[in-house]
Amino acid sequence: MAFATIDKKILQELEKLVGEKNILVRKEDMAAYSHDEFSSEDIAHFPDVVVKPESAEQVSCILKLANEYTLPVTPRGGGTGLCGGCVPVHGGIVLSMERMNKVIEVDAENLMAVTQAGVTLHDFYKAIHACGLFFPPHPGDEGAHIGGVIANNAGGARAVKYGVVRNFVHGLEVVLPDGDIVHLGGKLMKSSTGYSLLHLMVGSEGTLGIITQATISLLPPPAVMYTLVIPFDSLSKAISTVPDILRNKIIPMAVEFLESKTISITEALLHKTWPCHEGEAHLMLILDGSNEDEVMALAEQVQEIAMARGALDVLIASEKSKQQTILDIRSHIYEAMRAYMLEILDITVPRASIADFVNAVHRIEEEYQIWLPTYGHAADGNVHTHIMKAHFEKGEWKENPGWQRKYPQVRKALHDMGKKYSGLVSGEHGVGFVKKEYLDTFLEQKQIALMKEIKKAFDPRSILNPGKIFPS
Ligand SMILES: Cc1cc2nc3c(=O)[nH]c(=O)nc-3n(C[C@H](O)[C@H](O)[C@H](O)COP(=O)(O)OP(=O)(O)OC[C@H]3O[C@@H](n4cnc5c(N)ncnc54)[C@H](O)[C@@H]3O)c2cc1C
Repeated sequence: MAFATIDKKILQELEKLVGEKNILVRKEDMAAYSHDEFSSEDIAHFPDVVVKPESAEQVSCILKLANEYTLPVTPRGGGTGLCGGCVPVHGGIVLSMERMNKVIEVDAENLMAVTQAGVTLHDFYKAIHACGLFFPPHPGDEGAHIGGVIANNAGGARAVKYGVVRNFVHGLEVVLPDGDIVHLGGKLMKSSTGYSLLHLMVGSEGTLGIITQATISLLPPPAVMYTLVIPFDSLSKAISTVPDILRNKIIPMAVEFLESKTISITEALLHKTWPCHEGEAHLMLILDGSNEDEVMALAEQVQEIAMARGALDVLIASEKSKQQTILDIRSHIYEAMRAYMLEILDITVPRASIADFVNAVHRIEEEYQIWLPTYGHAADGNVHTHIMKAHFEKGEWKENPGWQRKYPQVRKALHDMGKKYSGLVSGEHGVGFVKKEYLDTFLEQKQIALMKEIKKAFDPRSILNPGKIFPS
Protein backbone atom coordinates (compact mmCIF):
# COMPACT_ATOMS: atom_id res chain seq x y z
CA MET A 1 0.00 0.00 0.00
CA ALA A 2 1.51 3.32 -1.03
CA PHE A 3 0.15 6.12 1.10
CA ALA A 4 1.03 9.79 0.80
CA THR A 5 2.76 11.51 3.71
CA ILE A 6 1.04 14.21 5.69
CA ASP A 7 2.77 17.50 4.95
CA LYS A 8 2.28 21.03 6.22
CA LYS A 9 -0.33 21.82 3.58
CA ILE A 10 -2.50 18.84 4.57
CA LEU A 11 -2.16 19.72 8.26
CA GLN A 12 -3.31 23.26 7.48
CA GLU A 13 -6.33 21.92 5.61
CA LEU A 14 -7.21 19.64 8.54
CA GLU A 15 -6.79 22.55 10.92
CA LYS A 16 -9.15 24.64 8.82
CA LEU A 17 -11.75 21.87 9.00
CA VAL A 18 -11.80 21.16 12.75
CA GLY A 19 -9.88 24.02 14.36
CA GLU A 20 -6.32 24.06 15.67
CA LYS A 21 -7.20 22.83 19.16
CA ASN A 22 -8.78 19.68 17.75
CA ILE A 23 -5.61 18.50 16.07
CA LEU A 24 -2.71 16.78 17.84
CA VAL A 25 0.73 16.43 16.28
CA ARG A 26 3.19 16.35 19.21
CA LYS A 27 4.43 12.87 20.03
CA GLU A 28 3.65 13.17 23.74
CA ASP A 29 0.06 14.26 22.95
CA MET A 30 -0.44 11.39 20.50
CA ALA A 31 0.95 8.62 22.74
CA ALA A 32 -2.49 7.72 24.09
CA TYR A 33 -3.72 7.26 20.51
CA SER A 34 -0.90 4.91 19.48
CA HIS A 35 -2.31 1.77 21.11
CA ASP A 36 -5.51 0.27 22.45
CA GLU A 37 -6.17 -1.57 25.69
CA PHE A 38 -4.23 -4.59 24.53
CA SER A 39 -0.54 -4.75 25.38
CA SER A 40 0.33 -1.14 24.77
CA GLU A 41 4.10 -1.07 24.11
CA ASP A 42 4.21 -4.14 21.89
CA ILE A 43 1.70 -2.93 19.38
CA ALA A 44 2.01 0.85 19.55
CA HIS A 45 2.15 2.74 16.25
CA PHE A 46 2.08 6.49 16.19
CA PRO A 47 -0.20 8.38 13.81
CA ASP A 48 1.06 11.49 12.03
CA VAL A 49 -1.90 13.45 13.31
CA VAL A 50 -4.93 12.96 15.56
CA VAL A 51 -8.05 14.75 14.33
CA LYS A 52 -11.16 15.26 16.48
CA PRO A 53 -14.22 16.12 14.41
CA GLU A 54 -17.52 17.22 15.96
CA SER A 55 -19.99 16.39 13.18
CA ALA A 56 -20.65 13.98 10.31
CA GLU A 57 -20.02 16.88 7.93
CA GLN A 58 -16.52 17.38 9.35
CA VAL A 59 -15.85 13.63 9.13
CA SER A 60 -17.01 13.76 5.51
CA CYS A 61 -14.60 16.61 4.67
CA ILE A 62 -11.70 14.77 6.38
CA LEU A 63 -12.40 11.60 4.40
CA LYS A 64 -12.71 13.53 1.12
CA LEU A 65 -9.30 15.01 1.81
CA ALA A 66 -7.82 11.63 2.80
CA ASN A 67 -9.29 9.98 -0.28
CA GLU A 68 -7.93 12.70 -2.55
CA TYR A 69 -4.38 12.44 -1.16
CA THR A 70 -4.48 8.67 -0.33
CA LEU A 71 -3.94 9.07 3.41
CA PRO A 72 -4.64 6.23 5.84
CA VAL A 73 -7.44 6.98 8.33
CA THR A 74 -7.95 4.91 11.48
CA PRO A 75 -11.17 5.50 13.42
CA ARG A 76 -10.84 5.43 17.19
CA GLY A 77 -13.58 5.11 19.80
CA GLY A 78 -12.79 4.60 23.49
CA GLY A 79 -9.57 2.69 22.74
CA THR A 80 -10.73 -0.22 24.94
CA GLY A 81 -10.34 -2.74 22.11
CA LEU A 82 -8.33 -5.92 22.67
CA CYS A 83 -7.05 -6.67 19.17
CA GLY A 84 -5.28 -3.49 18.02
CA GLY A 85 -8.28 -2.44 15.88
CA CYS A 86 -7.85 1.31 16.43
CA VAL A 87 -4.04 1.26 16.23
CA PRO A 88 -2.81 3.24 13.20
CA VAL A 89 -0.44 0.61 11.85
CA HIS A 90 0.22 2.69 8.70
CA GLY A 91 0.41 6.02 10.52
CA GLY A 92 -1.61 8.81 8.89
CA ILE A 93 -4.74 10.17 10.54
CA VAL A 94 -6.33 8.85 13.72
CA LEU A 95 -9.92 10.02 13.62
CA SER A 96 -10.94 10.25 17.26
CA MET A 97 -14.71 10.31 17.81
CA GLU A 98 -14.47 11.67 21.37
CA ARG A 99 -16.15 15.02 20.60
CA MET A 100 -19.21 13.41 19.03
CA ASN A 101 -20.50 12.58 22.48
CA LYS A 102 -24.17 13.53 22.62
CA VAL A 103 -27.15 11.27 23.18
CA ILE A 104 -29.50 13.00 20.76
CA GLU A 105 -32.82 11.47 21.77
CA VAL A 106 -34.36 8.76 23.93
CA ASP A 107 -37.65 7.99 22.19
CA ALA A 108 -39.79 6.11 24.72
CA GLU A 109 -42.68 5.69 22.25
CA ASN A 110 -40.52 3.78 19.78
CA LEU A 111 -38.23 2.30 22.46
CA MET A 112 -35.23 3.67 20.55
CA ALA A 113 -32.30 5.94 21.35
CA VAL A 114 -30.51 8.05 18.78
CA THR A 115 -26.94 8.79 19.74
CA GLN A 116 -23.70 10.13 18.34
CA ALA A 117 -21.01 7.50 17.94
CA GLY A 118 -18.57 8.99 20.45
CA VAL A 119 -20.88 8.59 23.48
CA THR A 120 -19.31 6.24 26.02
CA LEU A 121 -21.27 3.21 27.19
CA HIS A 122 -21.22 4.73 30.68
CA ASP A 123 -22.96 7.91 29.50
CA PHE A 124 -25.34 5.97 27.27
CA TYR A 125 -26.49 3.72 30.15
CA LYS A 126 -26.93 6.82 32.32
CA ALA A 127 -29.10 8.59 29.74
CA ILE A 128 -31.38 5.65 29.09
CA HIS A 129 -31.65 4.60 32.76
CA ALA A 130 -32.82 8.15 33.50
CA CYS A 131 -35.72 7.44 31.12
CA GLY A 132 -36.47 4.09 32.79
CA LEU A 133 -35.14 2.03 29.86
CA PHE A 134 -32.56 -0.69 29.39
CA PHE A 135 -29.81 -1.51 26.86
CA PRO A 136 -28.87 -5.14 27.61
CA PRO A 137 -25.39 -5.57 26.02
CA HIS A 138 -22.65 -4.97 28.56
CA PRO A 139 -19.12 -5.37 27.24
CA GLY A 140 -16.86 -5.15 30.29
CA ASP A 141 -15.34 -1.66 29.87
CA GLU A 142 -17.84 1.22 30.00
CA GLY A 143 -15.25 3.57 28.49
CA ALA A 144 -15.99 1.99 25.09
CA HIS A 145 -17.89 4.19 22.65
CA ILE A 146 -21.20 3.32 21.02
CA GLY A 147 -19.44 3.55 17.62
CA GLY A 148 -16.71 1.19 18.85
CA VAL A 149 -19.08 -1.45 20.21
CA ILE A 150 -21.03 -1.36 16.95
CA ALA A 151 -17.85 -1.50 14.83
CA ASN A 152 -16.79 -4.59 16.84
CA ASN A 153 -20.23 -6.15 17.30
CA ALA A 154 -19.34 -6.40 20.97
CA GLY A 155 -20.97 -8.97 23.24
CA GLY A 156 -20.34 -9.17 26.97
CA ALA A 157 -21.84 -11.23 29.76
CA ARG A 158 -25.49 -10.35 29.17
CA ALA A 159 -25.59 -11.70 25.60
CA VAL A 160 -26.98 -15.13 26.58
CA LYS A 161 -30.58 -14.00 26.84
CA TYR A 162 -30.59 -10.71 24.93
CA GLY A 163 -27.96 -11.15 22.24
CA VAL A 164 -25.01 -9.07 21.12
CA VAL A 165 -24.85 -5.41 20.04
CA ARG A 166 -25.90 -6.24 16.45
CA ASN A 167 -29.38 -7.25 17.69
CA PHE A 168 -29.98 -3.70 18.95
CA VAL A 169 -28.67 -1.61 16.03
CA HIS A 170 -31.51 -0.46 13.80
CA GLY A 171 -30.15 2.65 12.14
CA LEU A 172 -26.73 4.08 11.31
CA GLU A 173 -25.37 7.26 9.84
CA VAL A 174 -22.11 6.36 8.17
CA VAL A 175 -19.48 8.40 6.35
CA LEU A 176 -18.02 6.33 3.53
CA PRO A 177 -14.33 6.48 2.57
CA ASP A 178 -15.10 8.88 -0.34
CA GLY A 179 -16.79 11.26 2.11
CA ASP A 180 -20.40 10.48 1.13
CA ILE A 181 -22.82 10.27 4.05
CA VAL A 182 -25.39 7.43 4.03
CA HIS A 183 -28.31 6.71 6.37
CA LEU A 184 -28.96 3.00 6.83
CA GLY A 185 -32.17 1.73 8.47
CA GLY A 186 -33.81 3.94 11.09
CA LYS A 187 -36.34 3.58 13.89
CA LEU A 188 -37.56 0.43 12.19
CA MET A 189 -37.96 -2.97 13.80
CA LYS A 190 -38.02 -4.78 10.47
CA SER A 191 -36.49 -4.49 7.03
CA SER A 192 -36.48 -6.82 4.04
CA THR A 193 -35.41 -4.14 1.63
CA GLY A 194 -32.40 -5.33 -0.28
CA TYR A 195 -29.01 -6.30 1.13
CA SER A 196 -28.53 -5.15 4.70
CA LEU A 197 -25.70 -2.62 4.49
CA LEU A 198 -26.59 -1.81 8.09
CA HIS A 199 -25.57 -5.27 9.25
CA LEU A 200 -22.50 -5.23 7.04
CA MET A 201 -21.37 -2.12 8.87
CA VAL A 202 -21.87 -3.76 12.30
CA GLY A 203 -18.64 -5.64 13.06
CA SER A 204 -16.74 -4.11 10.12
CA GLU A 205 -14.04 -2.82 12.53
CA GLY A 206 -13.80 0.61 10.98
CA THR A 207 -12.72 -0.74 7.58
CA LEU A 208 -15.84 0.17 5.54
CA GLY A 209 -17.07 3.48 6.94
CA ILE A 210 -17.05 5.81 9.92
CA ILE A 211 -20.13 5.39 12.10
CA THR A 212 -21.19 8.85 13.21
CA GLN A 213 -24.67 8.20 14.62
CA ALA A 214 -26.70 5.16 15.67
CA THR A 215 -30.33 4.32 16.36
CA ILE A 216 -30.48 1.66 19.02
CA SER A 217 -33.47 -0.29 20.31
CA LEU A 218 -34.12 -0.45 24.04
CA LEU A 219 -36.15 -2.62 26.38
CA PRO A 220 -38.00 -2.05 29.62
CA PRO A 221 -35.59 -3.02 32.41
CA PRO A 222 -36.12 -6.35 34.17
CA ALA A 223 -37.94 -5.73 37.44
CA VAL A 224 -35.83 -8.20 39.42
CA MET A 225 -32.29 -9.56 39.01
CA TYR A 226 -30.51 -12.14 41.18
CA THR A 227 -26.87 -13.14 40.86
CA LEU A 228 -25.92 -16.72 41.69
CA VAL A 229 -22.43 -17.94 42.51
CA ILE A 230 -21.96 -21.70 42.30
CA PRO A 231 -18.64 -23.29 43.31
CA PHE A 232 -17.47 -26.66 41.93
CA ASP A 233 -14.38 -28.75 42.61
CA SER A 234 -13.40 -28.65 38.93
CA LEU A 235 -13.83 -26.33 35.98
CA SER A 236 -15.13 -29.08 33.73
CA LYS A 237 -17.87 -29.94 36.27
CA ALA A 238 -18.83 -26.27 36.41
CA ILE A 239 -19.00 -25.81 32.64
CA SER A 240 -20.74 -29.09 31.92
CA THR A 241 -23.61 -27.96 34.18
CA VAL A 242 -24.50 -25.18 31.74
CA PRO A 243 -26.11 -27.30 28.98
CA ASP A 244 -28.33 -28.87 31.68
CA ILE A 245 -29.56 -25.42 32.72
CA LEU A 246 -30.37 -24.52 29.11
CA ARG A 247 -31.96 -27.95 28.45
CA ASN A 248 -34.36 -27.17 31.30
CA LYS A 249 -35.44 -24.09 29.32
CA ILE A 250 -33.88 -21.62 31.75
CA ILE A 251 -32.22 -18.79 29.85
CA PRO A 252 -30.22 -16.67 32.30
CA MET A 253 -29.21 -13.14 31.39
CA ALA A 254 -25.56 -14.14 31.96
CA VAL A 255 -23.65 -17.37 32.62
CA GLU A 256 -19.94 -16.90 33.30
CA PHE A 257 -17.32 -19.43 34.33
CA LEU A 258 -14.28 -18.50 36.39
CA GLU A 259 -11.33 -20.19 38.06
CA SER A 260 -10.84 -19.64 41.81
CA LYS A 261 -7.23 -18.55 41.39
CA THR A 262 -8.16 -15.66 39.07
CA ILE A 263 -10.96 -14.66 41.44
CA SER A 264 -8.57 -14.36 44.41
CA ILE A 265 -6.01 -12.33 42.39
CA THR A 266 -8.82 -9.94 41.40
CA GLU A 267 -10.15 -9.72 44.97
CA ALA A 268 -6.70 -8.58 46.07
CA LEU A 269 -6.58 -5.94 43.33
CA LEU A 270 -9.99 -4.49 44.17
CA HIS A 271 -10.02 -5.11 47.94
CA LYS A 272 -13.42 -6.71 47.47
CA THR A 273 -14.62 -10.15 48.51
CA TRP A 274 -16.22 -12.81 46.33
CA PRO A 275 -19.08 -14.46 48.24
CA CYS A 276 -17.46 -17.87 48.51
CA HIS A 277 -14.00 -19.42 48.46
CA GLU A 278 -14.77 -23.11 48.10
CA GLY A 279 -13.79 -25.16 45.08
CA GLU A 280 -11.57 -24.76 42.02
CA ALA A 281 -14.07 -23.11 39.70
CA HIS A 282 -17.29 -21.14 39.86
CA LEU A 283 -20.29 -20.38 37.71
CA MET A 284 -21.76 -16.91 37.99
CA LEU A 285 -25.32 -16.55 36.72
CA ILE A 286 -27.60 -13.55 36.46
CA LEU A 287 -31.30 -14.42 36.41
CA ASP A 288 -33.95 -11.82 35.65
CA GLY A 289 -37.71 -11.66 35.62
CA SER A 290 -40.77 -9.58 36.34
CA ASN A 291 -41.12 -10.35 40.08
CA GLU A 292 -39.28 -11.85 43.08
CA ASP A 293 -41.28 -15.09 43.04
CA GLU A 294 -40.52 -15.76 39.39
CA VAL A 295 -36.79 -15.16 39.80
CA MET A 296 -36.58 -17.12 43.05
CA ALA A 297 -38.33 -20.06 41.38
CA LEU A 298 -35.72 -19.96 38.58
CA ALA A 299 -32.92 -19.73 41.15
CA GLU A 300 -34.25 -22.79 42.94
CA GLN A 301 -34.43 -24.74 39.70
CA VAL A 302 -30.82 -23.79 38.90
CA GLN A 303 -29.83 -24.80 42.44
CA GLU A 304 -31.38 -28.25 41.99
CA ILE A 305 -29.66 -28.80 38.62
CA ALA A 306 -26.29 -27.58 39.92
CA MET A 307 -26.38 -29.69 43.10
CA ALA A 308 -27.24 -32.76 41.03
CA ARG A 309 -24.17 -31.96 38.92
CA GLY A 310 -21.89 -31.87 41.97
CA ALA A 311 -21.98 -28.18 42.96
CA LEU A 312 -20.47 -27.56 46.39
CA ASP A 313 -22.97 -24.83 47.24
CA VAL A 314 -25.30 -22.29 45.60
CA LEU A 315 -25.16 -18.69 46.81
CA ILE A 316 -27.95 -16.35 45.81
CA ALA A 317 -27.34 -12.59 45.95
CA SER A 318 -30.50 -10.52 45.72
CA GLU A 319 -29.19 -7.20 47.17
CA LYS A 320 -27.90 -4.76 44.58
CA SER A 321 -24.65 -4.02 46.41
CA LYS A 322 -23.69 -7.70 46.68
CA GLN A 323 -24.53 -8.25 43.02
CA GLN A 324 -22.40 -5.24 42.08
CA THR A 325 -19.40 -6.60 44.01
CA ILE A 326 -19.65 -9.92 42.16
CA LEU A 327 -19.94 -8.16 38.80
CA ASP A 328 -17.02 -5.83 39.63
CA ILE A 329 -14.75 -8.76 40.44
CA ARG A 330 -15.77 -10.59 37.24
CA SER A 331 -15.25 -7.43 35.14
CA HIS A 332 -11.75 -6.77 36.54
CA ILE A 333 -10.16 -10.19 35.95
CA TYR A 334 -8.59 -8.84 32.78
CA GLU A 335 -7.01 -5.98 34.69
CA ALA A 336 -5.75 -8.30 37.45
CA MET A 337 -3.98 -10.47 34.87
CA ARG A 338 -2.78 -7.70 32.58
CA ALA A 339 0.70 -7.02 33.96
CA TYR A 340 1.85 -10.59 33.25
CA MET A 341 -0.36 -11.28 30.25
CA LEU A 342 0.95 -11.84 26.73
CA GLU A 343 -2.44 -11.99 25.08
CA ILE A 344 -6.14 -12.53 25.75
CA LEU A 345 -7.84 -14.86 23.29
CA ASP A 346 -11.49 -14.72 22.29
CA ILE A 347 -12.15 -18.06 20.61
CA THR A 348 -15.81 -19.03 20.29
CA VAL A 349 -17.03 -22.63 19.97
CA PRO A 350 -20.51 -24.19 19.87
CA ARG A 351 -21.81 -23.91 23.41
CA ALA A 352 -22.23 -27.68 23.85
CA SER A 353 -18.48 -28.10 23.09
CA ILE A 354 -17.24 -25.58 25.63
CA ALA A 355 -16.34 -28.12 28.36
CA ASP A 356 -14.33 -30.26 25.90
CA PHE A 357 -12.63 -27.18 24.49
CA VAL A 358 -11.64 -25.87 27.92
CA ASN A 359 -10.31 -29.32 28.89
CA ALA A 360 -8.21 -29.22 25.73
CA VAL A 361 -6.90 -25.76 26.75
CA HIS A 362 -5.77 -27.27 30.04
CA ARG A 363 -4.00 -30.12 28.23
CA ILE A 364 -2.08 -27.48 26.25
CA GLU A 365 -1.28 -25.73 29.55
CA GLU A 366 0.14 -29.00 30.93
CA GLU A 367 2.09 -29.79 27.79
CA TYR A 368 3.79 -26.38 27.53
CA GLN A 369 3.94 -25.57 31.26
CA ILE A 370 2.66 -22.05 30.69
CA TRP A 371 -0.24 -20.68 32.74
CA LEU A 372 -3.44 -20.29 30.70
CA PRO A 373 -6.11 -18.93 33.06
CA THR A 374 -9.40 -19.35 31.24
CA TYR A 375 -12.82 -17.89 31.90
CA GLY A 376 -15.63 -16.47 29.89
CA HIS A 377 -19.17 -16.59 28.68
CA ALA A 378 -20.11 -20.21 29.38
CA ALA A 379 -23.53 -20.20 27.74
CA ASP A 380 -22.24 -18.42 24.61
CA GLY A 381 -19.29 -20.76 24.03
CA ASN A 382 -17.04 -17.69 24.12
CA VAL A 383 -13.80 -18.51 25.92
CA HIS A 384 -11.20 -15.99 27.11
CA THR A 385 -7.86 -17.69 27.62
CA HIS A 386 -5.01 -15.50 28.84
CA ILE A 387 -1.57 -16.56 27.68
CA MET A 388 0.64 -15.63 30.64
CA LYS A 389 4.36 -15.06 30.96
CA ALA A 390 4.13 -15.71 34.72
CA HIS A 391 2.01 -17.74 37.10
CA PHE A 392 0.77 -16.86 40.56
CA GLU A 393 2.00 -19.04 43.40
CA LYS A 394 1.86 -18.49 47.16
CA GLY A 395 0.97 -14.83 46.74
CA GLU A 396 3.72 -14.10 44.22
CA TRP A 397 4.08 -13.86 40.46
CA LYS A 398 6.76 -16.21 39.09
CA GLU A 399 7.96 -16.15 35.50
CA ASN A 400 7.03 -19.19 33.34
CA PRO A 401 10.44 -20.42 32.15
CA GLY A 402 10.86 -20.27 28.36
CA TRP A 403 7.68 -18.25 27.76
CA GLN A 404 9.31 -16.36 24.86
CA ARG A 405 9.87 -19.60 22.93
CA LYS A 406 6.59 -21.20 23.97
CA TYR A 407 4.28 -18.23 23.31
CA PRO A 408 3.90 -18.64 19.51
CA GLN A 409 3.59 -22.43 19.85
CA VAL A 410 0.92 -22.18 22.54
CA ARG A 411 -0.93 -19.52 20.56
CA LYS A 412 -1.02 -21.75 17.48
CA ALA A 413 -2.01 -24.84 19.48
CA LEU A 414 -4.95 -22.96 21.06
CA HIS A 415 -6.21 -21.65 17.73
CA ASP A 416 -5.83 -25.06 16.09
CA MET A 417 -7.89 -26.46 18.95
CA GLY A 418 -10.56 -23.78 18.37
CA LYS A 419 -10.72 -24.84 14.71
CA LYS A 420 -10.97 -28.51 15.72
CA TYR A 421 -14.05 -27.68 17.80
CA SER A 422 -15.69 -25.85 14.84
CA GLY A 423 -15.02 -22.47 16.41
CA LEU A 424 -14.06 -19.01 15.20
CA VAL A 425 -11.08 -16.83 16.13
CA SER A 426 -13.20 -14.10 17.71
CA GLY A 427 -16.60 -14.15 19.39
CA GLU A 428 -16.65 -10.47 20.36
CA HIS A 429 -13.27 -8.70 20.45
CA GLY A 430 -12.78 -8.59 16.65
CA VAL A 431 -9.80 -9.48 14.49
CA GLY A 432 -7.97 -6.14 14.31
CA PHE A 433 -4.38 -6.73 13.37
CA VAL A 434 -3.47 -8.93 16.32
CA LYS A 435 -5.51 -11.92 15.09
CA LYS A 436 -5.52 -11.40 11.34
CA GLU A 437 -2.99 -14.18 10.74
CA TYR A 438 -5.66 -16.63 11.95
CA LEU A 439 -8.41 -15.58 9.53
CA ASP A 440 -7.19 -18.20 7.04
CA THR A 441 -7.36 -20.92 9.68
CA PHE A 442 -11.01 -20.30 10.42
CA LEU A 443 -12.63 -19.03 7.20
CA GLU A 444 -12.83 -20.54 3.72
CA GLN A 445 -10.74 -18.83 1.04
CA LYS A 446 -13.91 -17.99 -0.90
CA GLN A 447 -15.35 -16.13 2.10
CA ILE A 448 -12.16 -14.11 2.53
CA ALA A 449 -12.14 -13.32 -1.22
CA LEU A 450 -15.75 -12.07 -1.02
CA MET A 451 -14.92 -9.94 2.02
CA LYS A 452 -12.00 -8.40 0.13
CA GLU A 453 -14.31 -7.58 -2.81
CA ILE A 454 -16.72 -5.88 -0.39
CA LYS A 455 -13.84 -3.88 1.08
CA LYS A 456 -12.80 -2.82 -2.44
CA ALA A 457 -16.36 -1.75 -3.33
CA PHE A 458 -16.54 0.52 -0.26
CA ASP A 459 -12.95 1.66 -0.16
CA PRO A 460 -11.19 1.25 -3.53
CA ARG A 461 -8.10 3.18 -2.35
CA SER A 462 -7.87 1.19 0.89
CA ILE A 463 -7.54 4.29 3.06
CA LEU A 464 -9.84 3.20 5.87
CA ASN A 465 -8.21 1.34 8.74
CA PRO A 466 -5.62 -0.39 6.53
CA GLY A 467 -3.76 -3.42 7.85
CA LYS A 468 -6.76 -4.83 9.73
CA ILE A 469 -8.78 -8.06 9.49
CA PHE A 470 -7.13 -9.46 6.33
CA PRO A 471 -3.83 -11.35 6.46
CA SER A 472 -1.42 -9.41 4.25
C1 LIG B 1 -11.64 -4.78 30.85
C2 LIG B 1 -12.22 -5.00 29.48
C3 LIG B 1 -13.33 -5.82 29.36
C4 LIG B 1 -13.89 -6.04 28.11
N1 LIG B 1 -14.98 -6.84 28.01
C5 LIG B 1 -15.56 -7.05 26.82
C6 LIG B 1 -16.70 -7.89 26.71
O1 LIG B 1 -17.18 -8.46 27.68
N2 LIG B 1 -17.23 -8.05 25.48
C7 LIG B 1 -16.73 -7.44 24.36
O2 LIG B 1 -17.28 -7.61 23.29
N3 LIG B 1 -15.65 -6.66 24.45
C8 LIG B 1 -15.05 -6.44 25.63
N4 LIG B 1 -13.94 -5.65 25.72
C9 LIG B 1 -13.34 -5.09 24.51
C10 LIG B 1 -13.78 -3.67 24.10
O3 LIG B 1 -14.35 -2.96 25.15
C11 LIG B 1 -14.73 -3.79 22.91
O4 LIG B 1 -14.04 -4.38 21.82
C12 LIG B 1 -15.34 -2.48 22.42
O5 LIG B 1 -16.22 -2.79 21.39
C13 LIG B 1 -14.32 -1.47 21.91
O6 LIG B 1 -14.94 -0.21 21.80
P1 LIG B 1 -14.07 1.13 21.74
O7 LIG B 1 -14.98 2.29 21.57
O8 LIG B 1 -13.14 1.19 22.85
O9 LIG B 1 -13.32 0.90 20.35
P2 LIG B 1 -11.78 1.08 19.93
O10 LIG B 1 -10.91 0.18 20.71
O11 LIG B 1 -11.48 2.54 19.94
O12 LIG B 1 -11.89 0.58 18.45
C14 LIG B 1 -12.31 -0.73 18.16
C15 LIG B 1 -12.58 -0.86 16.66
O13 LIG B 1 -13.70 -0.09 16.28
C16 LIG B 1 -13.35 0.86 15.27
N5 LIG B 1 -14.16 2.06 15.55
C17 LIG B 1 -14.24 2.74 16.72
N6 LIG B 1 -15.13 3.73 16.59
C18 LIG B 1 -15.62 3.68 15.32
C19 LIG B 1 -16.56 4.45 14.58
N7 LIG B 1 -17.21 5.47 15.13
N8 LIG B 1 -16.79 4.11 13.30
C20 LIG B 1 -16.15 3.06 12.73
N9 LIG B 1 -15.26 2.32 13.37
C21 LIG B 1 -15.00 2.62 14.65
C22 LIG B 1 -11.86 1.04 15.40
O14 LIG B 1 -11.27 1.45 14.20
C23 LIG B 1 -11.43 -0.36 15.80
O15 LIG B 1 -11.33 -1.19 14.67
C24 LIG B 1 -13.35 -5.42 26.96
C25 LIG B 1 -12.24 -4.58 27.09
C26 LIG B 1 -11.67 -4.37 28.34
C27 LIG B 1 -10.50 -3.47 28.45
